[in-house]
Amino acid sequence: MSDTCIFCKIASKQIPVEALYEDANFIAFRDMNPQAPIHILIIPKVHIETIMELDSETLMTGAFRAVQATAQLLNLTAEGFRTVVNCRENGGQTVYHLHFHLLGGRFMQWPPG
Ligand code: 5GP
Ligand code: ZN
Repeated sequence: MSDTCIFCKIASKQIPVEALYEDANFIAFRDMNPQAPIHILIIPKVHIETIMELDSETLMTGAFRAVQATAQLLNLTAEGFRTVVNCRENGGQTVYHLHFHLLGGRFMQWPPG
């Protein structure tokens, strides 16, 4: 837990959000600046800065389980969706607490800008 990290505050419920999915290690909530009709963030409850600091195999597996479960709950599995992890400056990461973007509800262009 980092005192200055906004996602730690969300994970610890100091800042309340509507949890769309939650398990022992992850929580999913809506992005405040959505880039698609459905734009969810899935975060570990522990503070991990970027995907490069993710070294727990339990959390690696759990992250993808959480993405799958959230996509299922939001009925995204038939039409499809995109999952994105931005890493540091060139990846466009702005919040340094690992998060998986789950984007759906429209066709996603490729390549991204
Ligand atoms: P990044 O650019 O780091 O991959 O993505 C950070 C995302 O977090 C952005 O899409 C931004 O809109 C979202 N975000 C930042 N602060 C908050 C917040 O306090 N609440 C919510 N729900 N989303 C946030
Ligand atoms: Zn954090």
